[in-house]
Amino acid sequence: MKAFMESVKVKDPDQKEFHQAVMEVVDSVKPVLDRNPQYRKANVLSRIVEPERTIIFRVPWMDDRGEIHVNRGFRIEMNSAIGPYKGGLRFHPSVNLSILKFLAFEQVFKNALTTLPMGGGKGGSDFDPKGKSDNEVMRFCQSFMCELFRHVGPNTDVPAGDIGVGAREIGFLFGMYKKLRNEFTGVLTGKSLNWGGSLIRPEATGFGCVYFASEMLATKGESLSGKRCLISGSGNVAQYTVEKILDLGGAVLTLSDSSGYIYDEAGIDRQKLAFVKKLKNVSRGRIKEYADKYKEAVYTPRDGAVLFNPLWNHKADCAFPCATENEINQTDAGHLVKNGVRLVCEGANMPTMPDGVKVFQDSGVLYAPAKASNAGGVAVSGLEMSQNSMRLSWPRNEVDERLQFIMKSIHKACVTVAEEYGSPGNYVIGANIAGFIKVVNAMIDQGLV
Ligand code: NDP
Repeated sequence: MKAFMESVKVKDPDQKEFHQAVMEVVDSVKPVLDRNPQYRKANVLSRIVEPERTIIFRVPWMDDRGEIHVNRGFRIEMNSAIGPYKGGLRFHPSVNLSILKFLAFEQVFKNALTTLPMGGGKGGSDFDPKGKSDNEVMRFCQSFMCELFRHVGPNTDVPAGDIGVGAREIGFLFGMYKKLRNEFTGVLTGKSLNWGGSLIRPEATGFGCVYFASEMLATKGESLSGKRCLISGSGNVAQYTVEKILDLGGAVLTLSDSSGYIYDEAGIDRQKLAFVKKLKNVSRGRIKEYADKYKEAVYTPRDGAVLFNPLWNHKADCAFPCATENEINQTDAGHLVKNGVRLVCEGANMPTMPDGVKVFQDSGVLYAPAKASNAGGVAVSGLEMSQNSMRLSWPRNEVDERLQFIMKSIHKACVTVAEEYGSPGNYVIGANIAGFIKVVNAMIDQGLV
């Protein structure tokens, strides 16, 4: 395994986030390879870490002043063993091959866990939608799709949203795809409701994450009712995580963006949540404005010189990191444990660094890795694809019930597989092995392709 990891690192030495994601899976699946020599013979590890296809392209666009800019566009088509490539598009200045390969790799196992027929992919651009006008975002999306359209399709590769890509961007991307292809198909998910979207898709990642947390707490005879929760981020995933925690009787104390975080001891109630949704989704403002409006809240700007995130240093029972990767380091994890946190459920992708994960596991914290706990978003994307194929739309309660059923199934698979492999309560091992076995069996069935 050590030699294998070395070979991955030597091939792409700069791709730290990708190495981190691969290392976690490789660590978990060693006993699977020991029990199944046919997997080693088929060299599944070397095959699964290599994307089936990597597409990189130029995205030129013009701003409102007439100046020309060039960004880089990507699509990683990681694995199609169990279905068309599926995974979001991220528009953020930090986007590079390492970040997208880690996200695509995680997506392969996550999608397998949903039980739906979806392969894994991810894409995006180093374009930053923050501070751009609607027209600039539209011109960028149109230019991006002018290249991407030849690589995607409802039976080939079906992108969705991620950081910086919400309903507005999906609309602009879809419009250009439809014009170029002259067809109205379900090539993207996360579409608006009146032209092919699914009810519950915007809510799905946050709701699903909280459903998963409830299942974890239930194994200890507990629920979210009365629990104090810390949440990072204030975008799509964070907003609906707050909403579902409130539905279930919990209290939410924090939210953040890349500039800083707010702590509201009185709790973020429904009225305050409505303010956050308008602030972030319509006026596209900063989380600081929450503390300007609600005087009981305290705003702390981000301080790059501090080696921990003070958001994670408050008394609480549960934590839901919902912003971005590597936002909880070893020190943050120690603060969470010291402050009484007994459950960490990841809404964002890979938000906890490996030494942070170790702190949680050594302290007996219920810890859910993203590929299990945030799979609700892609699960409902899969349901959106089904509805598009059937040319009908399911009612809200039906989609929500399916989402709850899927999250319960993922939880059960994690628990059962972790026990089977001698690590009861270890959701990392459960999720990695359950996803891995499904994907590699399909790869072997389909021969060496
Ligand atoms: P949004 O763009 O809606 O929100 C992202 C939030 O995270 C914003 O508050 C943003 O702040 C903050 N953020 C982004 N980068 C950083 C950073 N480097 N440091 C601190 N804060 C940061 O994205 P989503 O809510 O959709 O995605 C959040 C996470 O959830 C990501 O990890 C994504 O991959 C994951 N995810 C999303 C799914 C979905 O359905 N949307 C599905 C599964 C996973 P700011 O506004 O300042 O940038």
